[in-house]
Amino acid sequence: MSIPLNADMHCHSTVSDGLLAPAEVVRRAHANGVDLLALTDHDELGGLIEARQAADALGLRFIDGVEISVSWGDDTTVHIVALGIDPNEPRLKQGLAQVRSGRDARAVRMAAELDAVGIHGAYEGALRYAGNPALVSRAHFARYIHAQGLTRDVKSVFDTWLAKGKPGYVPHSWATLTEALGWIHGAGGVAVIAHPGRYRLNGMEMRRLLGEFSEQGGSAIEVLSGAHSPEQAREFARYCREFGFLASRASDFHGPGESWIDLGRMPALPDDLIPVWQRFI
Ligand code: AMP
Ligand code: MN
Ligand code: MN
Ligand code: MN
Repeated sequence: MSIPLNADMHCHSTVSDGLLAPAEVVRRAHANGVDLLALTDHDELGGLIEARQAADALGLRFIDGVEISVSWGDDTTVHIVALGIDPNEPRLKQGLAQVRSGRDARAVRMAAELDAVGIHGAYEGALRYAGNPALVSRAHFARYIHAQGLTRDVKSVFDTWLAKGKPGYVPHSWATLTEALGWIHGAGGVAVIAHPGRYRLNGMEMRRLLGEFSEQGGSAIEVLSGAHSPEQAREFARYCREFGFLASRASDFHGPGESWIDLGRMPALPDDLIPVWQRFI
């Protein structure tokens, strides 16, 4: 039996809400033994050229990716990872610009709500971490709030202030599933449902999401994700078989100290599943 590739199909750089520059992400992946890497910043392609150059210099195989924010059903945010897209495809670029355009106004509303519960200066604070108002995300708010000394770690900020139902959570309309899949397929890419175990969907709702995704040409789901427990990995391996999806393996790495798992440090996929990267190698 051949040794499986150490493929990591999902991670972030400073171009969205990661802590390392694109080239640093690539160098860290290489040092961790990753053979095949996709950089998948949120709604943004701006790190791909730098990352690819760094990967070429190291002889690390690289896939152009992006993680698209989608609103699905009754106010559920679902993330769709696009792999192997042409980063110059105009409709994809325009679609992503449209998705990004709502972030600044959302951040202003989030800051107003946080202000009302005693967390002041959060808009300016989050922007200091984000750099770019078009990319300001809850992760940047979380870093600012954590830096106020209010929580033991950055993740805990979500439980108290930023998760759905908490004071700083503002509902938002991202792309529709149909739009995101249209942009991805139009740019020659493969669509993957990111961290399906993170969505608070019951079995019936999950099957509806997976069914719609499949009918519209979606190809794969993340079975192994930094955000999944071992039990969730087994659950999504079963869904993968049931729907005939390809399987992905994804750290969702954001930075040292802030992520569940480091680049490339996930177990191997179950033997019977077909890895999504078979499309690229
Ligand atoms: P946004 O796109 O602005 O809603 O921000 C979403 C980002 O916040 C995700 O991509 C993660 O980086 C981070 N995030 C969301 N929920 C959590 C959580 N429970 N713990 C840690 N980070 C989270
Ligand atoms: Mn993120
Ligand atoms: Mn995500
Ligand atoms: Mn991600």
